[in-house]
Amino acid sequence: MPAPPAAKTSPKPGKPAAKGPAKASAKAPAKSPMVRAMEKLGLRRDIDLALHLPLRYEDETRITPLARARDGATVQIEATVVSSDVSFRPRRQLLVVVRDGDETCTLRFFNFYPSMHKLMAVGNTIRARGEVRGGFLGWTMVHPSVSAAGAPLPNALTPVYPTSAGLPQAYLRKAVAGALERVDLTETVAPELLPRTHDGQPMWTLRAALQFLHHPRPDVSLDTLEDHSHPAWQRLKVEELLAQQLSQLESRRARDRLRAPPLHAPAGGLRDRLLAALPFVLTDAQGRVCREIAADLGRTVPMHRLLQGDVGSGKTVVAALAAAICIAGGYQCALMAPTEILAEQHFRKLIGWLEPLGITTAWLTGSQKAKERRDMLALIASGEAALVIGTHAVIQDKVVFHKLALAIIDEQHRFGVAQRLALRSKMRPQGVAGEGDAQEPHLLMMSATPIPRTLAMGYYADLDVSTIDSLPPGRTPIVTKLVNEARRDEVVARIRDQLAQGRQVYWVCPLIEESEALDLANATETHAALGAALADAGGAPIEIGLLHSRMPVAEKKAVMDRFISGRMGVLVSTTVIEVGVDVPNASLMVVEHAERFGLSQLHQLRGRVGRGAAASACVLMYSTGDAPRLGETARARLKAMAETADGFEIARRDLEIRGPGEFLGARQSGAALLRFADLATDAPLLEWARDAAPRLLDRHPDLARQHVARWLGGKAEFLKA
Ligand code: ADP
Ligand code: MG
Repeated sequence: MPAPPAAKTSPKPGKPAAKGPAKASAKAPAKSPMVRAMEKLGLRRDIDLALHLPLRYEDETRITPLARARDGATVQIEATVVSSDVSFRPRRQLLVVVRDGDETCTLRFFNFYPSMHKLMAVGNTIRARGEVRGGFLGWTMVHPSVSAAGAPLPNALTPVYPTSAGLPQAYLRKAVAGALERVDLTETVAPELLPRTHDGQPMWTLRAALQFLHHPRPDVSLDTLEDHSHPAWQRLKVEELLAQQLSQLESRRARDRLRAPPLHAPAGGLRDRLLAALPFVLTDAQGRVCREIAADLGRTVPMHRLLQGDVGSGKTVVAALAAAICIAGGYQCALMAPTEILAEQHFRKLIGWLEPLGITTAWLTGSQKAKERRDMLALIASGEAALVIGTHAVIQDKVVFHKLALAIIDEQHRFGVAQRLALRSKMRPQGVAGEGDAQEPHLLMMSATPIPRTLAMGYYADLDVSTIDSLPPGRTPIVTKLVNEARRDEVVARIRDQLAQGRQVYWVCPLIEESEALDLANATETHAALGAALADAGGAPIEIGLLHSRMPVAEKKAVMDRFISGRMGVLVSTTVIEVGVDVPNASLMVVEHAERFGLSQLHQLRGRVGRGAAASACVLMYSTGDAPRLGETARARLKAMAETADGFEIARRDLEIRGPGEFLGARQSGAALLRFADLATDAPLLEWARDAAPRLLDRHPDLARQHVARWLGGKAEFLKA
């Protein structure tokens, strides 16, 4: 909504964030609502304000005579008030008619204050800026911004800043302008070390870039400001990327100063015995990542590695082999998974592999009975359980490990930074308090959502990455079909066909508008309808199960067990099966309302089939609802699914469709998301920052620290996870 004439109605800005700590002393004066509103936007220090860049600009450098105005254009006029009336029809409004030469214009205000009557008294000459509409009865402007005529025109564009309710633009403008004058913008990088701009020119100074972006000259190409390709923008991106790389480098170095128990895998040891007992041979890719992990485990600094591999690429066995190395060294290993179903599946699989080798495993989840929990906690505390598998329950306070040396986190993107830190800290109770050489566990994170290279470089620079880039042999590719909801009958026929061949089928219902109740109603309805549709086929009755998020855990388990054992033919579920479930006999996946799912989510779902040798299919059923066709992003997602099964390509497209913020998820990225740089287009600047960061940190540690503080302030800590 357009603001009332700002200059007259907004309060004066104070001295924002001049000296934070001083104000925080015993008798801190109450903060003004404006200061609080600014703090909410993260605008505390002068530098925060200086880096608060305009959303867009207004050109107030010129006056346009009404006679030369174009219909629909945003212009600034100077005109004399000829009448000013409050009218009550159709609703209460202030109507001010102004004249400029032969032309008149009616200014309409629905919100107005006494001060505005005074400013726009008949006979006064005023300046009004807004969108003019030409009409039968002359020009009109609705809620223009108005000030007295006569003030000198600015010679730069006027910035319009991102703001919030209760923080008027004019207040923010003054606050930013003041901060820009005060702020220390000492260069932290020697000019000869900076990269060149896109067109080979020397980079601007930080001060010049900021001055310009807040107050560009009116002749600037607005396109280059908008697409952030202007040299001033490039300078800011360079600064920002460098700050990000520096802080990640610092946290990597800090971690390198920590100690972890070195774990080795002697020939013929537990790891080799497990390898020999496996019902398959590792793929080359699995072998390679196992070696990378084993090398990390052998070092005295904690491993911090991300194991990424497409769904079904066989990450679990890699985790088991790492666990075997750890356990053989006399230590404990913890494996944490985001859902109970997934944790249980790991539990079974790992028990099947490791218990025959004489290893005791403990199991921890939120839903287990108190007695069982106590027994498990005792096993863990005594060290008898060498392997501990569970959900978030693993990081609860009561869980005390005897000697934890390896923490594995599956589907790591489902966990937040705090949870990862909690798991790492589980090693510490063993160190004697105050001792300098407390140890950390090695950390292995697993993810089926591959992170595109630039993102990994940008956001996970402090992480080592191992990638399983091929699937185990013998898989037949999954055929993906997009089917309009209108052809549901054909889909049901297909299900019948698969069931007749002894195969199993997943049917996934979407979350409806984040409402669990509706979500459940929909799944229940589908479950009943499918039951009816498949019943009239004759033959043996087909068991159709229903799984949804609100079911008690025991019931969920019972349903899942029946499906895993093959007794249940069709499993209707909400997205609870999204992660990790492994039922090789399932050959058909139907996703209802596929248009409502995210791309990575669809890819994960699709990965539930095609796990055995049977030809598998994924049917993405979509509905356009009342619209004639699907929305653009939904179409892009489904198209990507139909065109490729490669998880990396999917991730790349997902990033394109959603942008990094959404892609990484807010919890993942903490406060560290880039505000200015765009990894999709700024890869060369990122490469520069990555190379420059160690040099700056080694040669000028003070400047490096100053740089990080300037950009990340209090948020720098966030990156240290
Ligand atoms: P994800 O990477 O999605 O966690 P899993 O670890 O669940 O994949 O593995 C998928 C399936 O492939 C499992 O049934 C697993 O036992 C099997 N598998 C893993 N590695 C191999 C291999 N080298 N050869 C054959 N099958 C394998
Ligand atoms: Mg898995």
